[in-house]
Amino acid sequence: MRIEHPQLLIDQIRYGVPSPYLPPAAYSLVEQVGSKGVFSFCMCPGGIIAPAATEDGELVVNGWSPSRRNNPYANSGIVVTVEEKDMLPFRKEEALMGLAFQQAVERKAFDAGGGRFVAPAQRMADFVARRPSADLPSCSYLPGIHSVPLQEVLPGFIYEDLRRAFEAFGKKMKGYLTNEAIVVATESRTSSPVRIPRDAVTLRHPQIGNLFPCGEGAGYAGGIVSAAMDGEKVADKVAEM
Ligand SMILES: Cc1cc2nc3c(=O)[nH]c(=O)nc-3n(C[C@H](O)[C@H](O)[C@H](O)COP(=O)(O)OP(=O)(O)OC[C@H]3O[C@@H](n4cnc5c(N)ncnc54)[C@H](O)[C@@H]3O)c2cc1C
Repeated sequence: MRIEHPQLLIDQIRYGVPSPYLPPAAYSLVEQVGSKGVFSFCMCPGGIIAPAATEDGELVVNGWSPSRRNNPYANSGIVVTVEEKDMLPFRKEEALMGLAFQQAVERKAFDAGGGRFVAPAQRMADFVARRPSADLPSCSYLPGIHSVPLQEVLPGFIYEDLRRAFEAFGKKMKGYLTNEAIVVATESRTSSPVRIPRDAVTLRHPQIGNLFPCGEGAGYAGGIVSAAMDGEKVADKVAEM
């Protein structure tokens, strides 16, 4: 999920008082819920929630901050770990079952939003209380948001783990758990759900000699720096050919 608060509220929580001399505040949160980690990811102070789908009929959001970090919103991905056992309903897809699971979540979010990449969303305290939101606050996501009870959209275990984590986050950062914040579905591309095999030394695919799986989509990176480093490693191996 992406969660978005007013930036002034996050400044207030982090700094105690709003200050014109301090940069828009960031935060980092993590909670163990049973066997699962739930954590903030790619927190964007003064940022924007952006559409990031790659297919029509699927809804994916992401976040970014302009260099001035001067938007009135603070957004962050909030991630629930997904394990292989969670994807077993899709096991007939074999190696691609993670992809099928991801696609099912994204399609459901697209349909729940009503189309045109409008995102289903719910106020945060309502989300925790399993209460539909009568209205929604303003949000930086340009295609728009639509009030939907997100327990009807998300896989049950993700919804429950998020609820428990939000309660814990509210205790760690007083004021964080609030109906001024909005939960937007769905941030489902934090890491690749499939990994293309490659030899640990040559970095080549074990069956296709001159194929070098590389970067995030192949399952060897997550984020700009790790993707760049993996690219460098693979480029060195290609140069040795
Ligand atoms: C809105 C947004 C914000 C982000 N913010 C951050 C951040 O703050 N920090 C961070 O670390 N990460 C961030 N990321 C993630 C980061 O962008 C990725 O982790 C990183 O770009 C992965 O690099 P990559 O080289 O593996 O893949 P990509 O950058 O996706 O590169 C893959 C390339 O392959 C091309 N391609 C695809 N198919 C074909 C084809 N058939 N033929 C030829 N070319 C093809 C694509 O056009 C693309 O140029 C963000 C992502 C998004 C969408």
